[in-house]
Amino acid sequence: MRWLPAHWSLWSAPAVVIGYVLAVDALALAVTGISSAGLDATSDDWIRLAVLIVASAIHVEAGRDIERLRRKVAEGTTSVNLQSVWTFAAVLILPLSLAIAVSAFTSLHSWARRRRSMPHRVVFSASTLILASAVAAMCLHTINPGSHPGYTGGLIGLVAVVGAAVAYWFINYALVVGAVMLSNPNAPAHKALGQRSDQLIVAGGLGLGLATSLTLEAEPWLTITLLITVLGLHRALLVGQFQSSARTDPLTGLANAVFWHEIAAKELERAHDNESSLVVLYLDLDHFKAINDSHGHQAGDDVLKAIAATLEQEVRAEDLVGRLGGEEFAILLPNTDAGDTVYPAERIRRRIASLVTTVTTPHGSLDIDGLTCSIGTATYPTAGRSLDVLLMAADNATYAAKNAGRNRVVAAPTNPATS
Ligand code: GH3
Ligand code: MG
Ligand code: MG
Repeated sequence: MRWLPAHWSLWSAPAVVIGYVLAVDALALAVTGISSAGLDATSDDWIRLAVLIVASAIHVEAGRDIERLRRKVAEGTTSVNLQSVWTFAAVLILPLSLAIAVSAFTSLHSWARRRRSMPHRVVFSASTLILASAVAAMCLHTINPGSHPGYTGGLIGLVAVVGAAVAYWFINYALVVGAVMLSNPNAPAHKALGQRSDQLIVAGGLGLGLATSLTLEAEPWLTITLLITVLGLHRALLVGQFQSSARTDPLTGLANAVFWHEIAAKELERAHDNESSLVVLYLDLDHFKAINDSHGHQAGDDVLKAIAATLEQEVRAEDLVGRLGGEEFAILLPNTDAGDTVYPAERIRRRIASLVTTVTTPHGSLDIDGLTCSIGTATYPTAGRSLDVLLMAADNATYAAKNAGRNRVVAAPTNPATS
């Protein structure tokens, strides 16, 4: 009975998150009520509704293995799906209340088949789909009055459909990003915004939704053949996800050591070609073992996640933060020269020293502060010309910072071999 609202884990979230989620749910409920009040559906509408529901049900069933794998690979990150093919087609071709029925059915069916996600999230994501459908339908009515549902063709028809697709995408995206940002106010914004390639998949889904709605209008049962296309694309989504998981450290979401080195090698080549400089920062937390020893491994993990989020906030978009292992991080700063090195490193050191992290211990939650780190920096080309030499120089500088008493930045000296 954990799906009953009384058992929702939502109630333990901060008040602002509860308020936001309930407001979105209530708005979706109101839109559903208002739109179904004046329902005037033809027999064609009912056939189209049936076809879309059958297609979406087959999609969910046939795509279950793919989704299970995707979730395993994508542990902890949001991932997009292709159900918008059916839900957006419904918006274009059906009266709003029937389009809402397709969204509600798809959300419930996907949830019933996995049961792993929390019920309030399912209700919330169904609500975002419903609100996106309503705004997209309004867009169609406004741009091309009297034509909806259906596609009238011509330039105005194109503008109406593209407008509806953009509105559908935007409302869905904005509502979800809003929820993620409110739930994790400290995470960097780009984490909540998700990956750009995901948005391309969503755009592809909406395009196929348009194709589906045209097929439905011309020959409803032919729509089922589009399923093959959708399932083929769905499987292809796995590739991107495997790629990104092969690059990511699962605990912190940062680049893992292999990927970080790969990018560092490429950036070094670029710096060489452009005769520009580049800086590597090595960062090792001070006395980190003491946190594990005093507060447990979970507390240590919580600190590592908070440090990772802080580092990402402190660097520019073109910099790359990686977790090399344990409590050691590396930051790649392209187009930075020796003169600029100490400034970012010092800023990061001070930021970490002032960090207060709430962690989970076996005895409840606890605020940890006073954590420090030692940073070694090495600049290309003065400290080294090859990646190996540069990394060794940064590592040695970190050691020097430890030996000099920790909580400080040490720059690797100019390497006589490079001058
Ligand atoms: P120093 O100031 O000399 O760097 O001391 P330190 O304690 O930070 O250094 P040391 O390298 O001796 O210890 C690192 C510790 O990090 C050892 C290990 O228990 C812990 N550690 C490594 N990986 C993880 C992890 O993924 N999670 C947690 N919780 N702890 C980790
Ligand atoms: Mg260490
Ligand atoms: Mg350490």
